[in-house]
Amino acid sequence: MRILLVEDNVALAETLALTLKRAGYAVDWRTDGRDALILGEQEPYDLAIVDLGLPGMDGLEVVRQWRESGLNTPVLMLTARSRWTERVAGLQAGADDYLTKPFHDEELLLRMQALLRRAHGREPSAVLNACGLQLDENTQRISGAGLSAVALSATEFKLLRYMMLHPGQVLSKTRLAEHLYDYEDERDSNVIEVQINHLRSKLGRTAIETRRGQGYVLVGRAP
Ligand code: CA
Repeated sequence: MRILLVEDNVALAETLALTLKRAGYAVDWRTDGRDALILGEQEPYDLAIVDLGLPGMDGLEVVRQWRESGLNTPVLMLTARSRWTERVAGLQAGADDYLTKPFHDEELLLRMQALLRRAHGREPSAVLNACGLQLDENTQRISGAGLSAVALSATEFKLLRYMMLHPGQVLSKTRLAEHLYDYEDERDSNVIEVQINHLRSKLGRTAIETRRGQGYVLVGRAP
């Protein structure tokens, strides 16, 4: 899952970026509203976290223009405490949810999880179900079909989470790389192949099918 973080408070943004990366998200960070507007339309983000007050263009305007151009990426807006009018304005502009500062990391992660699940028609829950597998996002372990809380590496977790949100779909290496790496990362699609094989060694050879020239499909695991 790849996140666009738009926040001009450098100290806060650095902390948030670290928290998000630990939770297995690829993060692009921008401080300027105009930069964010363009990047948000250019790159396939799974979610955007947008502060309200930004240099260049305020967060409300960024979200409003995204929505006007038909971009439906889930947006979590960050607002100042006790300004209810800001929260209402944020939702009116097209934000999906808001979080008032200051907030705890856990609250941010839960709100994000809920928005990401909702975007894929799922119930918000710490355990992601797909293809007979259960992925616990808190412990980053996989269970189901004979597996019992098997630990995943950070990269395996990121990859499997994305695949479990798109079960049965053919996912190209390019698409997987776009959603697992941030803007500055070297996107080497061979790495995806290696990670797919790591996942297969944990889930079973047949859990992920290869469609030659097209990509990979998560089909689950024979019990
Ligand atoms: Ca600000």
